Amino acid sequence: TTRNGHEPEFIQAVHEVAETVIPYIAKHDIYNGKNILLRMVEPERLISFRVSWVDDNGEIHVNRGYRVQMNSAIGPYKGGLRFHPTVNASILKFLAFEQVFKNSLTTLPMGGGKGGSDFDPKGKSDDEVMRFCHAFMTELCRHIGPNTDVPAGDIGVGAREIGFLFGMYKKIRNEFTGVLTGKGLSWGGSLIRPEATGYGTVYFAQSMMQTQGKDFSGKNVVISGSGNVAQFAAEKALQLGAKVLTLSDSEGFIHDKDGINEEKLAFVMDLKNNKRGRISEYVEKYKSATFHKGERPWGVACDVALPCATQNELNGEEAKTLIKNGCICVAEGANMPSMPEAIYEFHDAKILFAPGKASNAGGVATSGLEMSQNSLRISWTRAEVDDRLKGIMEDIHDSCIQYGKDEDGYCNYVKGANIAGFVKVADAMLAQGVI
Ligand code: NDP
Repeated sequence: TTRNGHEPEFIQAVHEVAETVIPYIAKHDIYNGKNILLRMVEPERLISFRVSWVDDNGEIHVNRGYRVQMNSAIGPYKGGLRFHPTVNASILKFLAFEQVFKNSLTTLPMGGGKGGSDFDPKGKSDDEVMRFCHAFMTELCRHIGPNTDVPAGDIGVGAREIGFLFGMYKKIRNEFTGVLTGKGLSWGGSLIRPEATGYGTVYFAQSMMQTQGKDFSGKNVVISGSGNVAQFAAEKALQLGAKVLTLSDSEGFIHDKDGINEEKLAFVMDLKNNKRGRISEYVEKYKSATFHKGERPWGVACDVALPCATQNELNGEEAKTLIKNGCICVAEGANMPSMPEAIYEFHDAKILFAPGKASNAGGVATSGLEMSQNSLRISWTRAEVDDRLKGIMEDIHDSCIQYGKDEDGYCNYVKGANIAGFVKVADAMLAQGVI
C-alpha cells in the first residue's frame, strides 16, 4: 500500500488475491522467503503516452494512452485495451493483475497485460474513432508484437476499433501477424471469439450448478450490461432454456417481465452494435418492459445473476437482496463487478459464486486459440473452437474445485481460482530466477 496507496482498484484486486494466496504460501516451503507475491504486484513495465488526434471540426484533442505489461513468466503479455473516460493507471493495473491469474487458469501460454485510454468513443463519428485508434497505435506499436504482447478488446474496444488498430500496426511494421486478437474473420480472426466471454461465463455457471444437480433450464436470469459480454451471455442462457429478465447500460436497466427472447436480443444487438443507441430505447419497442433510470438490476428476483458491465457494480446490500430473493448462483462476466462486501455475503450464504478471473476467462482463452490459428495459418470451425472453449471452461472449473473446496464441501471459487492461477505463474518465476 505504501507504493500504490493512491490506486484503490488495484489495492482491492491485490487484497482479494493476497487473502487467499498468503495462507497457501505459508503452507508451502518452496514459495517461502522468495517474496513472490511482492514481485507479482509490481508491473514488469508500465507505459504511458500522449495520444493527439484531430476531431471532425479540426480541433486537436489530447488523451493519455497506457499499456501495463504485468507478467510474462508463462508467455507473451496478453490482455485487452479499454477506451473509457474512467481509465487510469489504477484501473489498468487491477485489470492487468487479474489477467495474470486468469490467463494462467486457461492452461494456455499467455502472460498478463492490459491497456487503453481515457478516450470516450461515445458520441464520436467513425472517422474520429479511426483517427484516434491510428494515433494510439503509432505509439503502442513499438511495445507490442506477436511474441511480445498481444492486446485485444475490452470496454469501448470492439471489432471496429480492433480493425483500425490492426490497420495502423500493419502499415507501420509492414507485417501481417497475429498482434491483436478479436480480428475480423477475413483477416485472421477466430470464429466464436465475439461470443466467447459471454458463452464461457454461462458454461462456467452451468458447471457450478451441475455440482448441485441443477441447470439453466427454466431459470430466471438477471444480467447487467448490454455490451459484448452481456449480449452473448444472454444468448447462451436462452439457448440453455433460461428466461433472461434484464439488461443495462450506464444510464439504467430494463426489466422485461415476459423475458428477452431471441428476437428481442437481436434488436438489442443491432441497437448497441450498429446504431450505438441506449438500452432505454428497448421499452419504446417492447411494452412488456420497464426502464429504471440510474438503477442496477439486482433487485429483480432471479435464480442466477450475471454481472457483465463493469467493476464495482454490485455492493453488499444488493448481494443481500439477491440472496433474499432466492438467487442460487452468481457468475461474473465482467472483471471485479462484485465489491468485497458482496463477495462476503455470497460466501456467508454459501451460494455458488464465481469470480471473473475464472468465469470470464473464455474470452482470453479463445484469444489464445486465435493466436494458435494465426501461428499455424489455419482456421478452425465454429464447432472446433466452441468445443475447445467448453473444455477449457470445464478445466478451469475443475482447478477451482481442486484448490477451493473447503472441508464442509462448499467450494470457494475465489480461493480456488487465485491459488490455481498463482501456482503456475509462481513456479515459472521461481524457475527463471530473480529477474
Ligand atoms: P462493452 O463496451 O461491449 O460493454 C460494456 C457494457 O457495460 C455497456 O453496456 C456499458 O454501458 C456498461 N458500462 C460500462 N461502464 C459502465 C459504468 N461505469 N457503469 C455502468 N455501466 C457501464 O464491454 P464488454 O462487454 O467487452 O466488457 C464488459 C466487462 O467484461 C468489463 O468488465 C470487461 O473488462 C469484461 N471482460 C470483457 C471481455 C471481452 O472479451 N470483451 C473478456 C473478459 C472480461 P454504456 O454503453 O452506457 O457504456
